[in-house]
Amino acid sequence: QVQEGLLDRAADFPLLANPVHGKTLHYLDNGATTQKPASVIEAERVFYERSNANIHRGVHWLSQHATDLYEIARESVRGLLNARLANEIVFTRGTTEAINLVAASWGRANLKAGDEILLTWLEHHSNIVPWQLLCEQTGAVLRVAPMTESGEVDLDAFRALLNERTRLAAFTHVSNALGTVNPVEEMTRMAHEAGALVLIDGAQAVAHQRVDVQALDCDFYVFSGHKLYGPTGIGALYGRKALLDAMPPWQGGGDMILTVAFEGSTYAPAPQRFEAGTPNIAGTVGLAAAIEYVQSVGLDAIARHEQILLDYTQEQLQRLPGIRILGTAAHKAAIVSFMVDGIHPHDLGTILDSEGVAIRAGHHCAMPIMTHFGIPGTARASFALYNSLADVDALVDAIGKAQSLFGIRS
Ligand code: PMP
Repeated sequence: QVQEGLLDRAADFPLLANPVHGKTLHYLDNGATTQKPASVIEAERVFYERSNANIHRGVHWLSQHATDLYEIARESVRGLLNARLANEIVFTRGTTEAINLVAASWGRANLKAGDEILLTWLEHHSNIVPWQLLCEQTGAVLRVAPMTESGEVDLDAFRALLNERTRLAAFTHVSNALGTVNPVEEMTRMAHEAGALVLIDGAQAVAHQRVDVQALDCDFYVFSGHKLYGPTGIGALYGRKALLDAMPPWQGGGDMILTVAFEGSTYAPAPQRFEAGTPNIAGTVGLAAAIEYVQSVGLDAIARHEQILLDYTQEQLQRLPGIRILGTAAHKAAIVSFMVDGIHPHDLGTILDSEGVAIRAGHHCAMPIMTHFGIPGTARASFALYNSLADVDALVDAIGKAQSLFGIRS
C-alpha cells in the first residue's frame, strides 16, 4: 500500500493539475526533469520581489541580503550531501557543467599522456564526453568497465581495469537509462585502493535517496537542481576541500579573483575561484527551497514510496504481452526502461501522450547502453514522490490501447 501521506503531495505541484490533450496528466518523465512545488516557485518570485541584487560586491543592504541568501543556499546543499564544509560546495549550472569543471580544472592540471580515466558502460553522455575531450587534450586514455545483462557494473571487470595509471574513476550513482543503483561505496573503495580519485554522478540519485558524501568517501559528487524539484540552470559540485584548494580556475572573470593587474591576476579561494561572473542567484534560492521541501517530506519516505511504485509498475507491465524490461538489477531506483514488441518507442511515446501519459522514448543520452542491448532506444517511465498507483494504472492502460491500435491484441 502506498503511504497516504505521500499520495497527497501531488497537490503541492501546480503544474500537475493542468490537463494535457484534455486528459489528466500522468507525468512519468521525472528522470528528465521534475515538476516544482509551489514553495520553490514562490521562493524565486519572492526573491525577485524583495531580495534581488548582485552578490559579493555591493556595500548596500540588498546586495548583502542577496549574498546571505546565496551563502545560505550553499549551506543547504552542504546539508543535503552531508559535506563537512560549505566551502566544499561549488554552484554550477548543473551536473554537466560540474563534470566539465572537474575535467577542465583538475583534469588539465593533473593528467598526462598515458594516464587513465575509468568509466562504466552505464554512463550518461555528460559523464563520457567531457573525459573524451580531456583525453584529446592531455593524451590520457579512457577505460570502460562493462555491464552485465542485468544492467549492473561488472565489478570484477571494474576492479581488474583499475591500475597504477588510473587517476580517476567516474561513475553514476543511479543509471538514468536503466535505474540501476550502483554499489558506489564499494566502487569508491576499490578505486581508492588503486590510488585513483572518484567522481560520482548523482544526477539521478539525490531526489530518490539519502546521500552522504562523507560516508561514500568520494572526492567529487555532482548533481542538478532541476531533477530535485528545483529550478533549471542550477546545480552543484561537491569537492573535497584539499582538492578544490589545489585546483586552478577554469573560467576567468569577475568574482573569482583577489587582484587583477595586466601583469597577472591572483585568484579567490575555493569555491569562489570556480564561480566566475554573476551566478544564478535566484536559482540557488529556488534550490534551497527544493531541498527544504524534499527534507520536509523525508528522503527515506520518498525512497519507500518510489520502491512501491517501481515494484507495482514492473509487476503490471509483465502482465501485458510482448513487454521486455531492460535493467533487472537487484537494486534499482524507480526508473523502468522497456520495449513493447512491434511498437517503436517513439510511436509508443506519442500514443501514450495522447492519453495524458508523459514518458520518454529514445536513447536517454546513454547511447552505449542501447548499443550494448542492440536496440535504438527504449520507452522509459521514471517516478517522483508525487506519483501514485493511479499513474501506473494509466500507463499500463495506455500501453494496452497502443497494442490494440497496432493490432497486437484485441
Ligand atoms: N547524468 C545523469 C545520470 C543524468 O540522468 C543526467 C540528466 N539526464 C545528467 C547527467 C545531465 O544532467 P544535466 O542535463 O542536468 O546537466
